[in-house]
Amino acid sequence: VTAAPLPMTCADVEKLLHPYLDGEFAAEERALVDLHLASCRRCLDVVAFQRTFKTSLRARLHRPTAPPNLRASVLAALDQADARGDGPPAPIWRRAAPLTVTAFLTVAAAILVFVGAVVPSHADSAVVKEEAIRCHEKNLPVEVGGGAENISSWMVGKVNVPVRPPQVRGSLVGARLNQLRSRDVAQLRYLVDGSLVTLYVFDATGMDITGRETLVAGGRVFQVDTMRGYNILYYRERGVGYALISDLEPDELIQALRE
Ligand SMILES: [Zn+2]
Repeated sequence: VTAAPLPMTCADVEKLLHPYLDGEFAAEERALVDLHLASCRRCLDVVAFQRTFKTSLRARLHRPTAPPNLRASVLAALDQADARGDGPPAPIWRRAAPLTVTAFLTVAAAILVFVGAVVPSHADSAVVKEEAIRCHEKNLPVEVGGGAENISSWMVGKVNVPVRPPQVRGSLVGARLNQLRSRDVAQLRYLVDGSLVTLYVFDATGMDITGRETLVAGGRVFQVDTMRGYNILYYRERGVGYALISDLEPDELIQALRE
């Protein structure tokens, strides 16, 4: 039998501030903190201050990538902990057990360090974008031409996702194989209104690409980014990632895609 949760006090909120801000909370616990914040100006101010502080701190932090053997040993240690039942306890928050909270905070801090080391950081996705732009600029010769169908069948077995060139206004010049961050990608070249447009088609599994802006058009959700004067348009369909690079404006690119 679970008793209805007691309302939180200012002291409770203060203790749980960091997991709350880091989003390490179950919806239930989060609702309890939110309930308190809705009626406590003092705690609301503290939350706002800490949030700003954390954001600016994170922006300044350099995130080194964990070497593969460290990553492997951390994963092995986590598997062993799981097997022993030493994993993080649930439910996370219990009023009567302050030690649980401390234990949780320790585990949460360890997980945060770990996740920060292996999940591609913002800087990492900037590297991918930079690489993608460089390959766009290089304008390497195409390896296959002859229209969408021909390109599609040529790519079978070379890229691990089906390459189906989307309909684009303008001409499809051809395609080649390329690599972005050691992932095999199809690189397609279009000419739209005299501008070169590069389209990458790749396996988007585990990729979380977010741009500075999101646009929705024609049933697709586009992440839009700008780098060194180029516009990058990214969307995914059925697990396949599509990234367009061009000096055309994002809405011109979207228009070209819809025709
Ligand atoms: Zn309060």
